[in-house]
Amino acid sequence: MASELRDLRGVGPSLESSLNQLGIHCCKDLLFHLPFRYEDRTRLHAIGALYPGARVLVEGEVEHSAIVRGRRATLVVVISDGTGRLTLRFFHFRAAQKKQFSRGTRVRCYGEVRGGYQGLDMVHPSYKRILNAADEAVSDRLTPVYPSVEGLGQASWIKLTDQALALLNRHELELEELLPEDLRGNLKIPPLADALAYIHRPPVGADVSALVERRHPAQQRLAMEELLAHNLSVQQLHRRQRRLRAPALTRPSSTEKRFLSQLPFTLTGAQQRVVAEIQEDLSRGHPMQRLVQGDVGSGKTVVAAMAALRAMGNGFQVAVMAPTELLAEQHLRSFREWLEPMGIHPVWLSSKVTGKARQTALQAIEENAPLVIGTHALMQEGVHFSKLGLAVVDEQHRFGVHQRLALLDKADTESLHAHQLIMTATPIPRTLAMTAYAGLETSVIDELPPGRKPVTTAAVSNERRNEVVSRVAAACLEGKQAYWVCTLIEESDAVQAQAAEEVARELQSDLSGVEVGLVHGRMKPAEKQHIMDRFKNGEIQLLVATTVIEVGVDVPNASLMIIENAERLGLAQLHQLRGRVGRGDQQASCVLLYSPPIGPLARERLNIMRQTSDGFRIAEKDLELRGPGEVLGTRQTGMLQFRVADLARDQQLLESIPGVAQRLLDENPGLVQKLIRRWIGDAARFAGV
Ligand code: ADP
Ligand code: MG
Repeated sequence: MASELRDLRGVGPSLESSLNQLGIHCCKDLLFHLPFRYEDRTRLHAIGALYPGARVLVEGEVEHSAIVRGRRATLVVVISDGTGRLTLRFFHFRAAQKKQFSRGTRVRCYGEVRGGYQGLDMVHPSYKRILNAADEAVSDRLTPVYPSVEGLGQASWIKLTDQALALLNRHELELEELLPEDLRGNLKIPPLADALAYIHRPPVGADVSALVERRHPAQQRLAMEELLAHNLSVQQLHRRQRRLRAPALTRPSSTEKRFLSQLPFTLTGAQQRVVAEIQEDLSRGHPMQRLVQGDVGSGKTVVAAMAALRAMGNGFQVAVMAPTELLAEQHLRSFREWLEPMGIHPVWLSSKVTGKARQTALQAIEENAPLVIGTHALMQEGVHFSKLGLAVVDEQHRFGVHQRLALLDKADTESLHAHQLIMTATPIPRTLAMTAYAGLETSVIDELPPGRKPVTTAAVSNERRNEVVSRVAAACLEGKQAYWVCTLIEESDAVQAQAAEEVARELQSDLSGVEVGLVHGRMKPAEKQHIMDRFKNGEIQLLVATTVIEVGVDVPNASLMIIENAERLGLAQLHQLRGRVGRGDQQASCVLLYSPPIGPLARERLNIMRQTSDGFRIAEKDLELRGPGEVLGTRQTGMLQFRVADLARDQQLLESIPGVAQRLLDENPGLVQKLIRRWIGDAARFAGV
């Protein structure tokens, strides 16, 4: 079986290493290196009928050629086919090339026609000379163009893939069909070998625009396999986890009742349902893996608190983690307020806790402190829980899958594993959930606490900034409270802080009688907390902040949100920021300040924000506009780099994935491994599959 790259004609050590760099290690890999566009070289066009912009194949005789010396030397060749003349121009050429174009030589070229000074021309066409009858045939297939690297020309790709396709055709290359036949029949998908042959060498008349957009059935088949492989690998990961043991937390505790009765509100139906789902999971002897999705303000924290009480009541430790310092502090506050009256004192740990305080915290954790709250610091070396029963991870999309697993490892004592509750405020589009989170149980808090009114949103040009400032002044003087968010993308904390300080100074001098406060990421936790407390108590009416307030800040009386440079932020972030208002009973509003001119994408984002406050719609749109890697946060992208599939484009394929995946897992576990290996390979090993 010839499947080594070295066995192919023309492959030496240097070409082999270039191919390796592209992740191509054998002939099979070559077949999965797919063209990204196609050229139609199946038909010769008359030169007299050409028009600028066309990409065509033409043939003619050389009338004359010359090296024209101008600012740079250019090889100019004029050809004619009897219907018209065309000038070929080469800015990079070897001296020997001039000789190839001797008068009377027949040349065939492919390139883009341009309207030049003297009639039509082609710059750097690909060409060949027609020297004998064997050169005359035109291709009966479209010519693929492959993604490539410096020094590896298209001609090489064609030679390589020609050979790989020939091997495939002669069955000398083992390329297993991994989708069962009846399933292919049901879904009307072509066999793998046919699909690959078609994609590499489509016939004349193939739907090129479908191919370029990767909507052709041959490509959709590959996309389907790839999505399936991703879904299976994540499911497998979770199945493995489900075989592990975890403490069965069955006993309800009296503190749960007390906690509920001291809350100033009753749980919504959705909250009650999700709490019950969690309690059911916790009572089984396997680690819970539940993702709770709930839009901003839907009340996830109380739900987490109920889960925590169940675990603590059964004698186990609880860790509550958030991705930012501020959000973690917010949780610390909420949990203290709710649980300290019942004698539960949370331990605080973040990377900013150092020295003696850190030693004390670590010791408490080791000595079975019931509740630990903090940032990722909780997952670092040196943090040892004595009896971790439940880990609550807020805003999981900012943590990677691997970090989540690292936490699971923390619980290795007595071979019991901790339950995991993952909470996300940015709703994850269903399509994404199916691949990235396949196998996780999901709960949705799909009801906001009563009395919430949608936030009215306006996009306002920075040219009208003064009007906005007056509006803020009027609102604050009426006793309302407002946020003013300063955004600087990709700048350091220090620069952001400085910009926010500047804005705060300006606003303070513009707004007499209004108390302006400032929070940013460079402040000490105590300082930040002091300002937040004063805002919460109403001593500060206008809070200027960097995007540190994006998540977690909860001041129900704040009803006005101004976001500067809104055009630079993504939808998810805008939605999060806007979610800071509209938490009380007043009508809240949000002003998206932008600096014109803004591009079409930014305009669309602002429009969506004006039109809807539905987190799920916003998330779907976000996925469409930005792609999955961005939506989930960069740490997740390793899991989500697709070779063929596109989550936004291939939505209709996603519908069938869970069913097909289930069937394969039940009936063809062997195929499951092979699919995962074909499409994910090393990445799957990394994720522990
Ligand atoms: P998120 O889901 O965004 O984390 P929080 O847990 O911060 O939301 O809750 C938002 C606000 O709503 C908090 O002030 C919280 O106390 C309040 N809240 C939560 N549940 C209810 C409820 N059932 N009725 C009224 N207010 C609630
Ligand atoms: Mg929250």
